[in-house]
Amino acid sequence: MRVPTLSKSRYLSGDQCHLRLWYDSYERDLAPPPDASLQAVFDTGHEVGHLACKRYPHGHFVAHDHRHVRDALKETRQVIEAGTVPVLFEPAFRHEGVLVRVDILERLPRGGWRLGEVKSTVRLKEIHIPDVAVQLWVLRGAGLDVREVEVVTLDKNYVYDGIRLDLDALFKRHPVTDQAEALQETVSTRVGEMLTVLSASAAPEVSPGAHCFEPNDCPYYAHCTRDFVWPDHGIGELPSLHPSGRARLEAAGIEEIRDIPGDFGLPPLQDVVRRAVQQQRPIVHGDISSSLARLVSPIHYLDFETFMPAIPRFPGTSPYDTIPFQFSVHTERDAASLEHTDYLHEVEDDPRPHVADRLIEAVGTEGSICTYSTYERRILKELATALPERAERLNAISDRLFDLHPVVKRTYYDPEFRGSFSIKSVLPVLVPGMSYDDLEIPDGRAASARYLRAFGNAAHEQRQQTFDDLRAYCERDTLAMVRLRQALDAL
Ligand code: SF4
Repeated sequence: MRVPTLSKSRYLSGDQCHLRLWYDSYERDLAPPPDASLQAVFDTGHEVGHLACKRYPHGHFVAHDHRHVRDALKETRQVIEAGTVPVLFEPAFRHEGVLVRVDILERLPRGGWRLGEVKSTVRLKEIHIPDVAVQLWVLRGAGLDVREVEVVTLDKNYVYDGIRLDLDALFKRHPVTDQAEALQETVSTRVGEMLTVLSASAAPEVSPGAHCFEPNDCPYYAHCTRDFVWPDHGIGELPSLHPSGRARLEAAGIEEIRDIPGDFGLPPLQDVVRRAVQQQRPIVHGDISSSLARLVSPIHYLDFETFMPAIPRFPGTSPYDTIPFQFSVHTERDAASLEHTDYLHEVEDDPRPHVADRLIEAVGTEGSICTYSTYERRILKELATALPERAERLNAISDRLFDLHPVVKRTYYDPEFRGSFSIKSVLPVLVPGMSYDDLEIPDGRAASARYLRAFGNAAHEQRQQTFDDLRAYCERDTLAMVRLRQALDAL
């Protein structure tokens, strides 16, 4: 059997789990295709990587892709031997069955090379080190004199002036030579183990566990756990279960909430969950009516949708600043009247002034404004900072916010919440028949990804469809709050 090449991404998969490495190499179809949110993460990675290369006007791009590895290896060798190019992008190297492509390889003035790995994060992370360590191992093994290793990330402190991106200030270099060198022996051992796994005639036996989520969520989890019989109301449903609490329960052999003895000490909210599950009924454990009595009519319900561009697009913004592009507001003047208004920014310029102006209009100056998280408060605060001439009116809106999430969390628990107080968990239980299942856009991450994609090369019709889907999703969020507040009132 021909052993497939161990690429960098396969090495990193194997570093997490040998079975994941096997699936990556032989049974890739067992993972679901990337959804819109994951695809957006990939797209951001490409965008950032591409921009990082622009810092080097005289670099050489080795363009042959993964289907033409031999050509890429040959071209890399030829360019390096010619000795005239100061920087290579995507050069290819192979050593002992491991193939890597380097983001940026720089020739150092005093001889030797610097290996650079570009990441679209704003800080150096522990998981970046094995990534550069395996590259260093391959490059040195292939005979290249690599003297320095760095991870290049975006710099959160960079502020775009709205005229020209300053690439030197946008990117931050993190020297990690020592950390990468410290892992060289480990890489060597792991590569040997992984090649043995890949040469075997069958997949390794690995049981799912905590490693399936560290350092990344494994895409094969649904497949690996397909035959699991999950406990009904497992201890994972206990809200904010600390690892030490979990360890205590597991040490007592307890996997399900129904088996937790009444005298087993639990924090108050977990105790409520235990009682609700064991008595198989919802429990009212706080004063719902006095919590809601603070609401002032007319009651508005507000939800924002936002995106966080890695590369700042608007003056005064930094990498991953949150930009609201849409809101929905429902207004309840009395029990019989419900009005809806919304705003979606349909062009590519800065949506914030438009969102702010339309919102100021939509909620007026009277009444409470319900949300279902603290997110809207944060967005309003950021809008007020970015738009000082509207700050007073935006801060006045913030002062009227009323968060329904803690009202539910502090007063009511139904076993069907399954340990979650998110609106998507609570809604179908408190308002039977109402959910998000019929919508094209299932959550805020997908909303953001779809919005950004609409401005790519989507055809006009597709773009309009996306805008319709976004409106439907955001409207559902605020209508859900209306129905939820009414359900709480009824309780
Ligand atoms: S789900 Fe877990 S056990 Fe299965 S391949 Fe992934 S990491 Fe390995």
